[in-house]
Amino acid sequence: MSIQYRLSRCDFQDTAGPLCSFASVYRVTLISLEGPTCEMLLCGEHVQKSWSVGTEVLQCRFPHLNLSLGSVRLDPVHRPNDMVGDEKRER
Ligand SMILES: [Zn+2]
Repeated sequence: MSIQYRLSRCDFQDTAGPLCSFASVYRVTLISLEGPTCEMLLCGEHVQKSWSVGTEVLQCRFPHLNLSLGSVRLDPVHRPNDMVGDEKRER
């Protein structure tokens, strides 16, 4: 039953770049002015870019709607204590 605690990785991906390999720390909800929303998981680094990539992500998920990003909601991802070590990063 441990699979439900598996860490989710950050969803951020630069154009043609590799996927970010850090564990996600925020569940980001992108809320469009037109109504549709979508969620992505981001690490602490990339959460600062959620606003700038948000419109792009909305267009990617809803390619036929011309959505504009209206707001962004951040919810910390909770995880069991024994997995906190996975969050450590080298500087
Ligand atoms: Zn990231």
